Amino acid sequence: MKVYCKDCQKKLPLDATTCKCGASVDPYAVLGEDEVRPFIQKLHKKTNDLRHLLSHCLSFLVIGLILLVIAFFFYYLAFGTETIDGEKVAVLNTKCSEFWVSMVALIAGGAAFLGGSITGIIVAYNKRQILFDIDQIRETRSLACKPVDIIFVVWAKALGAKIRHWIWLAKMKKEVK
Ligand SMILES: [Zn+2]
Repeated sequence: MKVYCKDCQKKLPLDATTCKCGASVDPYAVLGEDEVRPFIQKLHKKTNDLRHLLSHCLSFLVIGLILLVIAFFFYYLAFGTETIDGEKVAVLNTKCSEFWVSMVALIAGGAAFLGGSITGIIVAYNKRQILFDIDQIRETRSLACKPVDIIFVVWAKALGAKIRHWIWLAKMKKEVK
């Protein structure tokens, strides 16, 4: 669990007593209705900023994908044919400029793709956490918040519930027969 600083919305460990901004922190304090609303508004603004960041990550992903396609295209162009023992064979020419273009595009595209996806996952997770925190703060009026489940855990739980339901249905059908 973590607790928000009331003044700067920074998240701190539950045992923190003061924030870096100088405000005192109390995970057991209960906020008044007039305090909850402005605080949640600030958190909503944070999720908006994260949404913009997420769209930048998406642009990086697209640029990365385009560069990767270019890389594969130039890699293909780097092949030439050679005659070995009277048979024509496709040979990769690592000295031609097409090969080097493909390598540069591969590295740049790979970096943009990986960077975009990893940053995107982190940002999306943070955004989910803040939205989850908003619900918690509304409900408990406390600034102490539980961590949100990782999306795979959510999916696994949903799948588990479905499977249990199917098993139950199958049992019921047997009993009816
Ligand atoms: Zn603070």
